[in-house]
Amino acid sequence: MALLTYQYRLYPRRAEAKRLDTLLYQGKLVYNFALEVCKNTYEATGESVKALSLWRYFRDWRNSQPEAERVLNASSVQHLLRRLDKAYAAFFRRIKAGEKAGHPRFKSHDRFNSVEYTYGDGVKLVQDDRRVLLYVHRIGSLKVKVHRRLPTGAVIKHVVIKRKAGGWYVNLQLEVPTPEFVPNGQPLVAGDVGMLRLLTLSDGTGIDNPRWLRGTLKKLRRAQRRLSRRQKGSNRRRKARRQVALLHEQVANTRRDFWHKVTTALVNTYGAIALEALNLNFMLRNGRLSLSAHDADLGIFYALLDSKAANAGCTVVCVDPAYTSQICSGCGCLVEKDLRVRDHDCPHCGLTIDRDLNAARNIFKSAFEYARIGRSGINAAPLPPPSGDGKRTRSLRSSPL
Ligand SMILES: [Zn+2]
Repeated sequence: MALLTYQYRLYPRRAEAKRLDTLLYQGKLVYNFALEVCKNTYEATGESVKALSLWRYFRDWRNSQPEAERVLNASSVQHLLRRLDKAYAAFFRRIKAGEKAGHPRFKSHDRFNSVEYTYGDGVKLVQDDRRVLLYVHRIGSLKVKVHRRLPTGAVIKHVVIKRKAGGWYVNLQLEVPTPEFVPNGQPLVAGDVGMLRLLTLSDGTGIDNPRWLRGTLKKLRRAQRRLSRRQKGSNRRRKARRQVALLHEQVANTRRDFWHKVTTALVNTYGAIALEALNLNFMLRNGRLSLSAHDADLGIFYALLDSKAANAGCTVVCVDPAYTSQICSGCGCLVEKDLRVRDHDCPHCGLTIDRDLNAARNIFKSAFEYARIGRSGINAAPLPPPSGDGKRTRSLRSSPL
């Protein structure tokens, strides 16, 4: 199990932000009051008091408040008391070690900026159409900007709501299963998803963008034009609309079928496959690439690969995509190049190879020769799939794979 924290920006409405402020205010009161009790006891007796032992007191205090103002929930009060216990434990540890120890300090308004929850206890993520909301009891359903998806198999343990200068954030503390990487005798490979070639593998093979859907897409465009010319409410318009719908379906099915074949071949051929971690930043890196990534419907590819890998005894490893295309896979030097440059040509060691192949080899290295960062984040509920609206879909040709 690995522990990770994923931070997302929150966009509370004005009333919600106000309640969040109240939440922090109440948190601060609890913290400072508990600290005062502990401090008085320590100064009077030299003994430590567990802040958590004050829990009953704060539960009663919470219950005595009017319903509307009771924003701090029971588990978040416990987390606050635990936080204070930790501060005290550190304080006593320093005293014992003979170091100069500062007593835990009272928090002022601008130094008290976070409240923690146990996930599922007053806080949970909910999905509403394509939006993801963080439901917080007595605060509201806060809009979450999901800029990257949760890793597969992640379990959300704790949730920290944070106020920063720039706005509100939520930290999700995740427990992620470390993939059991059992070498099954099959070769390891890394793949780079590119613009010209759909997928370039580190062993030099790859898959080109398929063109066999072009005919269907041409038909589709023609059918769409025809539809737009037909008179509203007419019989011929109804027929034209049906034609368009059928063609759309055909395109979607063929594309899916293509990905099925590719992913099956991959998981049966290789023991582990490393890919760049797919996230929305990657999709939006630039206009042309985002179109291409969109076209290739990478979301489907990653999801199918992930779902088939386990059964085939194959591991999908995702690596941080930073610099994979800019570093020389031969000598490790940084060789900067923009997207138009198709070849990697290293002035330091003289390596000249296709840029995608260079990237694939770098992905291979960071996956299997350096540390792995975890599995692909595809099937992680409840966040939405990264593929777009599917409207601009050009499509893809199968490969000799
Ligand atoms: Zn080099």
